[in-house]
Amino acid sequence: MRERMVVGNWKLHGSLISNKTLLDEIVTGMAGVKGVHCAVCVPFPYIFQVQFALQGGEIVWGAQNVSQHEKGAYTGEVSASMLRDLGCSIVIVGHSERRALYGEDDAMVAEKFVAAQKGGLIPILCVGETLEEREKGITANVVERQLQAVVDKAGMEGFGRCVIAYEPVWAIGTGKTATPQQAQEVHAYIRALLSEQNKGLSENIMILYGGSVKASNAAELFAMPDIDGGLIGGASLDANEFVSICKAAAQVA
Ligand code: PEP
Repeated sequence: MRERMVVGNWKLHGSLISNKTLLDEIVTGMAGVKGVHCAVCVPFPYIFQVQFALQGGEIVWGAQNVSQHEKGAYTGEVSASMLRDLGCSIVIVGHSERRALYGEDDAMVAEKFVAAQKGGLIPILCVGETLEEREKGITANVVERQLQAVVDKAGMEGFGRCVIAYEPVWAIGTGKTATPQQAQEVHAYIRALLSEQNKGLSENIMILYGGSVKASNAAELFAMPDIDGGLIGGASLDANEFVSICKAAAQVA
């Protein structure tokens, strides 16, 4: 049985005060819940606060971006080893908002993936098509291209230490969720692609779904055979919603 994971992506939200309430409520809500890895990816300035709140517990934390560089004259960047220093174990790489708004292309995402692993982090690699690409019928080609760029840089071994998140861009923050069947189809395709190279790896790798997951639709998505959990944006800012989503993932485990 594959492991299950639910990751909250706080995006550009939070304050010291609101984070404290949110974290306290998540910790309380998740007490005793087994069968799912629960994680939060928070804005850089709050990692220290999150480390303080979560260390010693079951919930892990990470960042939403990482530099492809280890150190040097890269003003404004944050390296994987800095994130490790603050107890991060995961980092989101290649989120569609970074690809679309900050010019991160497949090659840069692959470099960040490698840098994250070198620094001791588990990258959560986001892939997914835009609405235009889906309507053109090229979802599979887009996802394959995005994965291949990482294979080219990290080798298949790299996929032994990562999580993949399938996030159709048209479903992110739009309230428009992919149907369980639409998501399953792409998840199965990703697993089949990886299986061509390494069957064992493809059976064990966690592939999360992201795109307007809520407490009300999580269970049906997580019931699909190739969906191993979720990457959650908006709903991760509401502790009740987030905890319910984590529990939905735990229940199918
Ligand atoms: C995300 O930020 O990765 C995401 C899936 O956002 P939302 O859940 O708000 O669609």
